[in-house]
Amino acid sequence: MMYPMYYSLDPTYLLVIAGVLICLAASARMRSTFSRYSRVQSRSGLTGMQAAQEILRRAGIYDVRVERVAGNLTDHYDPRSKVLRLSDSTYHSTSLAAVGVAAHECGHAMQHAQGYAPLKIRGSLVPLANMGSTLAWPLIIIGLIFTGRSSEMFLNLGILAFSLAVLFQIVTLPVEFNASNRAIRILASSGIMYEDELKGAKKVLGAAALTYVAGAASSILQLLRIILIAGNRRR
Ligand SMILES: [Zn+2]
Repeated sequence: MMYPMYYSLDPTYLLVIAGVLICLAASARMRSTFSRYSRVQSRSGLTGMQAAQEILRRAGIYDVRVERVAGNLTDHYDPRSKVLRLSDSTYHSTSLAAVGVAAHECGHAMQHAQGYAPLKIRGSLVPLANMGSTLAWPLIIIGLIFTGRSSEMFLNLGILAFSLAVLFQIVTLPVEFNASNRAIRILASSGIMYEDELKGAKKVLGAAALTYVAGAASSILQLLRIILIAGNRRR
C-alpha cells in the first residue's frame, strides 16, 4: 500500500522503453558517424552521384538512373522504376560518407540485377507487412477491451499481424548487410576509395546497419510484450 503507483504500472512497458532507448542510441550514433565522415573528402574527388554511375557501369548495369531526392538520409534504390535516388547531402558531396552511401544503394541495384533471393523475399513480404502493421494495434486493442473467447481470438490475430511486420524487419537485415558488403568490395576493387578511406565508409555503413538491427530488436521487444500481456490474460 505504500507505493500504489507500482501496482498500476505495467512492468512489460519496460520492454517498450528498452526498445526506444536502443533505437535512439543507434540513430544518434548513425548521425554522429555520418556527420564525422561528411567532413572527410575522398581523394578520388568523385561526388556521390559520379561514384554511383561509375559503380553501376562497372557492374554492367546500364538501365538504372541516378536521381536526386529531397531530404537528409533519404537515399534509396527503387526496384520498381529502377531509379537510384540520392539525397541532397549525398548527390553533390565528395565526402567518404556520401560516396559510401551511394555505393550502398548501388549494392541494392546489384542485388536486384542479380535476383538476390533475400531481396525477392523481402519484396514479396511488403504487402503482408503493410497489412500486418495496419491491423496489429486495432486487433490487439479490441482484444484487450473485450473479454471471453472472442477477445483471445482478436489478441491472437493481433499477434500474428504484428509478427508479419517483425518478420519483414528481420528479412531486411541480410539485404542491408549484403548491400554494404557489396559496396565496400566494389569501392576497394574499383579504386574509388583508398584503403585508409575504406575504414571511414565501413564505419558509416556499419552505423547505418546498426539502426536496422535496433529497429528489428525494438519490434521484437514490443512483440514479446504483447505476447506476455496476452498470456497474463489467459490465466
Ligand atoms: Zn539499404
